[in-house]
Amino acid sequence: MAQITILGAGIIGMATASVLSRNHKVTIIARNLPGDEPTIAWTSPWAGASFIAGGCSSAREAKMQLDAFAELWRWSIAYPDSSIKQITIEDFHDDKTEDDIWWKDYMPEFHFLPPETLPQGARIGTSYKSLILRPDVFLPWFRTKLEKSGVQFRRMDLKSLSDARELGHDILINATGFGSLTLQDVHDHDLETIRGQTVVVKSGYDKLFMHDTGETYTYAIPRLDGTVVLGGTRQKNSVSPDVDWDLVQDIFTRINRHLPEHFSANPMDSEIIGHNVGLRPSRKSGVRVEKAVSEGQKIVHAYGVAGGGYIFSFGIARAVRDLVEEFLFPFPESKL
Ligand SMILES: Cc1cc2nc3c(=O)[nH]c(=O)nc-3n(C[C@H](O)[C@H](O)[C@H](O)COP(=O)(O)OP(=O)(O)OC[C@H]3O[C@@H](n4cnc5c(N)ncnc54)[C@H](O)[C@@H]3O)c2cc1C
Repeated sequence: MAQITILGAGIIGMATASVLSRNHKVTIIARNLPGDEPTIAWTSPWAGASFIAGGCSSAREAKMQLDAFAELWRWSIAYPDSSIKQITIEDFHDDKTEDDIWWKDYMPEFHFLPPETLPQGARIGTSYKSLILRPDVFLPWFRTKLEKSGVQFRRMDLKSLSDARELGHDILINATGFGSLTLQDVHDHDLETIRGQTVVVKSGYDKLFMHDTGETYTYAIPRLDGTVVLGGTRQKNSVSPDVDWDLVQDIFTRINRHLPEHFSANPMDSEIIGHNVGLRPSRKSGVRVEKAVSEGQKIVHAYGVAGGGYIFSFGIARAVRDLVEEFLFPFPESKL
């Protein structure tokens, strides 16, 4: 049993703790912890959150998504209190063809939608059984679950990964999301934030809807409790935590175009329950899950999941576990 410290208590840090704590002693340290008031300083509380397959840059990332889906699907059955629920999705794309839909052989009840049902501009439509969850319920629930299995949580704000050496662990996991932009010995210039804003309304609408044009994407994520999250937006040039009311209007205009029988174009016609504004940790070259040794400290990096923290979650955790095992059980070099 090794001593593992995980820096970061977002979905990636916690999913990793869930997998590693089966065999190791795990402590999570982080500036922001589940149960805190959500702030713009971290991302996980602001997610929809839905599982929408796609958006990966390699076969390795596709496998991570499938691993995560399998685990979350299992949890949707085993743990009703977690808020994870199964739902039917209709997912439309303007810039994809059938060949791009790598997940078609894996998702339950997958089928292509007839051309006459596609929204204007869409080249392809798919439907399958997917998952949603409520981060405000799920994250504190997940923390309690981890604590019951022996994972410890400590609040700490680090300036660099080397500051963690004094904790005396065998391996440090860096799951800091966009925190890896400012950690002095990481400063990952490949990382950038993409601001997202959504609006939560009262509605009985109950199908997960997504239309991605390649430039904009519009979605409705039912939370299956009489509320729906409407989005979405991608902004690279803003880190403002404030609600942008032009974007709110834009979201209602777009969702009304797609689902006029459920949502008015006028925000005043809906009962708005809240707004979510968060910064996605996006990495131009894709998710970073790799080993490093710095100043004698063994590190596994696990960040850069952009808009897919929940979609990648347990898949990243398994990939991290494999790298931890490589550190702990190095394959002897061949003498031949
Ligand atoms: C509006 C919106 C909608 C979204 N919808 C979805 C969705 O439907 N499905 C989906 O899968 N994803 C969605 N996402 C994306 C998802 O929220 C992120 O991918 C995910 O939360 C990233 O998780 P993380 O654990 O990498 O980072 P974070 O959640 O940001 O966690 C980082 C952790 O590291 C800690 N930390 C950072 N730096 C330091 C430091 N120096 N010292 C100590 N601690 C530090 C933080 O305190 C925090 O605990 C959405 C995002 C937004 C903004």
